[in-house]
Amino acid sequence: MAQALVVTGPGELEVQDVTLRPLGEDDVRVAIRGVGVCHSDLSMVNGTLRPAYPQVLGHEAAGVVIEAGSGSAVPLGQHVVLNWAVPCGTCWHCRHAEPWLCSTIEGMTGTPGGTLADGTTFEACLGLGAMAEEVVVPAAAVVPLPDDVPLADSALLGCAILTGVGAARNAARVRPGDSVLVLGLGGVGLSAVTGARLAGAERIIAVDVSEAKEALARTAGATDFLVGSPGLAKQVRALTDGRGVDQALECVGSAATIRQAWTACRRGGTCVVVGLGPKDQQVTFNPLELFHFSRTLVSSVYGNSDARRDIAGLLEYVADGRLDLAAMITDRISLAEVPAAFERMQRGEGGRALVCFPDDQQEER
Ligand SMILES: [Zn+2]
Ligand SMILES: [Zn+2]
Repeated sequence: MAQALVVTGPGELEVQDVTLRPLGEDDVRVAIRGVGVCHSDLSMVNGTLRPAYPQVLGHEAAGVVIEAGSGSAVPLGQHVVLNWAVPCGTCWHCRHAEPWLCSTIEGMTGTPGGTLADGTTFEACLGLGAMAEEVVVPAAAVVPLPDDVPLADSALLGCAILTGVGAARNAARVRPGDSVLVLGLGGVGLSAVTGARLAGAERIIAVDVSEAKEALARTAGATDFLVGSPGLAKQVRALTDGRGVDQALECVGSAATIRQAWTACRRGGTCVVVGLGPKDQQVTFNPLELFHFSRTLVSSVYGNSDARRDIAGLLEYVADGRLDLAAMITDRISLAEVPAAFERMQRGEGGRALVCFPDDQQEER
């Protein structure tokens, strides 16, 4: 039995004892030490997405391997971060070095994770269901971590940091000296600011509707902070010699902010859609501006990352002190406090909330 945060329907969350699915030969059992509260978890609860219920949330997590199937080569005691987008390695995209577009990863799906006390099968969100004391996942879904990296905080490498840093480095291709706009400062947006800094951007303009995000943005590396407004593109041009930014990263997922990010780019600049938006809005461009501005519009899926390769690269930044995993963690909470964290997220407050499980509780099991 393990305690887990179970969603039984939109807005209905409850900590329950669950029985995890049996360990298969290619699986590992991981005692979770930290699991982040991500905006896509909220989307599973607030009706934006309609996953199958009951569902155990959580896909940004790190922990310790405490049991391994006979076919898995992962040693017991290994510290790991979970990967919710495990590429198959054999489809066209995987064979063409685009594992983030793997055709077996269709996004917001779950897999059977085990049963509730009454015998009902629950879905594990994105195949992980990591808002739980323990998970059983395929060995392919764990990426090893060195023992000296703060384990609970490493959870953020599995979603926000990989996605945000990857958006700046892999999708926007930020170069030293560039000017970068980041619109929307949740966990991914703050990580995009971090990614722009790590890539050597000279000017990083961070934008959010909440003024309270300024301190977090500057800690991540922003040189300028603006509160979002209809006149944003003009303000951005004023900060960039009248040209606009080299790259704009839209981390909200709405037609209005995509259009603002696009307009804030210089001629020949790149606008990257990082936010996951709805399908009932339209973004419009006129033919003359498409020709005249010669901009590139791309999206960033999971930071266009190869998780194993890119997490290893991020760990080098952690080791040399350029990436502080704890910098955007503003709340350390228990499973029962996740609903309150969702409320703060909806109000645009704070950085990342991290559900932490103390070691001693785990070691007794
Ligand atoms: Zn996430
Ligand atoms: Zn594939």
